[in-house]
Order: sequence, then structure tokens, then C-alpha cells
Amino acid sequence: MKIVAIVTDIEGTTSSIGFVHNVLFPYALKQIGNFIREHHEERDVMRILVRIGDRTGLALHNTEGFVKLLQQWIREDKDDADLKLLEGMVWERAYKQGLFQAHVYADVPEVLQKWQDRECNLYSFSSASIKAQQLYFRFSDFGDMRLLFSGYFDTTMGEKRDVQTYANIAQAIALEPECILFISDDKDELDAAEAAGMRTTWVIRPQDTSLDPERVRVKTTHPVVTGFEQIEVA
Ligand SMILES: [Mg+2]
Repeated sequence: MKIVAIVTDIEGTTSSIGFVHNVLFPYALKQIGNFIREHHEERDVMRILVRIGDRTGLALHNTEGFVKLLQQWIREDKDDADLKLLEGMVWERAYKQGLFQAHVYADVPEVLQKWQDRECNLYSFSSASIKAQQLYFRFSDFGDMRLLFSGYFDTTMGEKRDVQTYANIAQAIALEPECILFISDDKDELDAAEAAGMRTTWVIRPQDTSLDPERVRVKTTHPVVTGFEQIEVA
């Protein structure tokens, strides 16, 4: 069956793991305190703090308590939707101030454009919130890339390593899994997508991993590439 949709992971696939770990997360950790102190009375922020307070027992006026808790969650890389919303707000301000741009590997934009020209619909799938993914591609090294994507998926679809998640994504796109190519740097994610019936390609970025593509290639059923220009879509 012909591939008519492509779903790509971001971290380690379109973009370096280093950027997320060395730039985005340290920035959020450093700035979350000032952000909460300055904006805790704004409606969007307060709404999130109320939800976190309900779950954790923190009183709303305890601003420093929230700061401490959020810093701890960032350090733990806690998978929490409210934390992700707040991080997204912190990053949005930084992107808009031009403090940094989101890393995208140089081979990616041109290939995504080529796929889109062939009327393949493109989607991203990441554990980052949809809002963070949209920000990421809006403020990328290659400018605003959002027009390349038809949609974004986050873990509200399910865990990245669960087979059912990929069935859910296929259903959301309204296509048979066999028509969808999933691209990732993570073997377990690829195995799950394959088990759901999707086509797969394993991206190994030498900048991000010590895996040897040649060694991996002989051991796996997934096609292995080191850049998007090598990905075959047929
Ligand atoms: Mg990844």
C-alpha cells in the first residue's frame, strides 16, 4: 500500500536531543520561578496553579511553594500536563524574544517539503505538549515550519511505546496503518508502531547516539537511516 501520511518523532529524529536537554529544560528550570512570581495572578496561569494546588494541597497564595514544586518536577522531567503548559508559556516568551531557536537537523525541512509536495500529509508525535510542538516548529532554525504539518500528536494518544497508541493515531488520521510511515530514533516506539501495522524507519543521528547504524542495520527489521534524505517513501 502506498504511503500517504508520515508521522515523525521530534527529539533525536527531526531535532537534536542535546537542544532539548541542554537548552530548553535548563532554561525552564532557571526561569520558572520568575515566571510564576510575575504571572501567577494572570487567568491562564492561575487556572493551572489552582489545578496543581488541588492535586498537591498547596495553597494558592503559596507562590514560593509552587516555584519549588515546579522546579522539582522539571528536574525529575515529570510527565505532567500542567507542568508542560507552564513550560510552554516560559519557552514561548523566550522564543518570541529571540533568546534561542528550536533545533532542526539541516536535512529535514527540504525533505518534509518534498513529501508535502507529493501530497503526503505530515504529522509530528512527541511527548511534548501539542502547544510546545507548535512553538518548536514555529521558531525553528529554519523559520516557521508549521505549514509543513497537518497535525500534531502528544501522549493524549497514549504512551509512545504502546501499540494501541499507534492504532489511535491511525484512527485519528483516518487511514489504514499500512499507509502511514512512522519515523523515530527509538527502537521500542518503532516496534510498537510496526506491531500496529505502520511502516517504520529508524533514524540514527550520530550527534545524538553512540549506536552504530551499520550494526543496527543487520539486527533490525526497521530500515535504518542517518538522515531524512535517505528515507524511502513508496
Ligand atoms: Mg525520539
